[in-house]
Amino acid sequence: MASVEIRDVRKAFGATQVIHGVSIDIVDGEFVILVGPSGCGKSTLLRMVAGLENVTGGEIRIGERVVNDVPPKERDIAMVFQNYALYPHMTVADNMAFSLKLRNAPKSEIEARVKKAADILGLGHLLDRYPRQLSGGQRQRVAMGRAIVRDPQVFLFDEPLSNLDAKLRVQMRTEIKELHQRLKTTTVYVTHDQIEAMTMADKIVVMHDGIVEQMGAPLELYDRPANMFVAGFIGSPA
Ligand code: ADP
Ligand code: MG
Repeated sequence: MASVEIRDVRKAFGATQVIHGVSIDIVDGEFVILVGPSGCGKSTLLRMVAGLENVTGGEIRIGERVVNDVPPKERDIAMVFQNYALYPHMTVADNMAFSLKLRNAPKSEIEARVKKAADILGLGHLLDRYPRQLSGGQRQRVAMGRAIVRDPQVFLFDEPLSNLDAKLRVQMRTEIKELHQRLKTTTVYVTHDQIEAMTMADKIVVMHDGIVEQMGAPLELYDRPANMFVAGFIGSPA
C-alpha cells in the first residue's frame, strides 16, 4: 500500500494542453474515484499515475518515489482496463500467474498467490477453464485476479465495468468495494458514471476539461456542490 500524491500535474499532447494543473492527495488505503464526462482527461491522468505517460509539468509520487523516476520493472501498481484482454490460449490459472512468471517468482509462491486470489474472487472452480468458456462477469473477475496476485501498492481501474450489462455492473460494483474493504489497497478508479462514483468512493474527484472542479466525500459533493457543473453532473441520472 502507499499514498499517491498528484502535485500540480499538467499534460500536453503536442501543442494541445489536456490537463491543466491537477493536485490530488490520496492517503494510504483510500478508494478515490475520478469522475467526469468523456474527454475530460481521466484516462490520461490515470496513465500518468501508472507511469505509462510522462507528465509535462508537476509531479506524481507513489509513496516516497516520483513515478517517472521509477524504472517500469520496479513499478508496483496493477491496472484493470475496460478492454481487459485475457490471454485466450491460457487457462484462468495461467492468466493469473502470467505476470508473476514474468517476474520470475518461485513456482510455489505463484501457486499460493493464484489460489488466494481465486478464493477471494470465487474463481476456485474455474481455474482450468479458458476465457471463451467464461461469462462476462467471470472474465472481469479473472482480470481483477491478474491484478490481485501481484499484491500491488496501488490498484488503478479505468472504466472496468463499461462493457458489462446493467445488472452485472451493479453486482461487480459491490464485489470491487468488498475487495477493497478486504485488501485495503490504495485505489484510483476512473468512471464517467456518477452512480458508480457515489456508491463506491471514499473520495470523489470531479473533473471537467482537464481541471478538478471539486473533490470530497460523496455526500459532501451531493449536499454542497461547488458549482453548477458539479451540481448538474452529480445530480443527473446515469
Ligand atoms: P477521458 O478518459 O476522460 O475520456 P482522455 O484522458 O482519454 O479523457 O482524453 C483527454 C483529452 O486528451 C481528449 O481530448 C483526448 O482526445 C486527448 N488525448 C488523449 N490521449 C491522447 C494522445 N495520445 N494524443 C493526443 N491527444 C490525446
Ligand atoms: Mg477514458
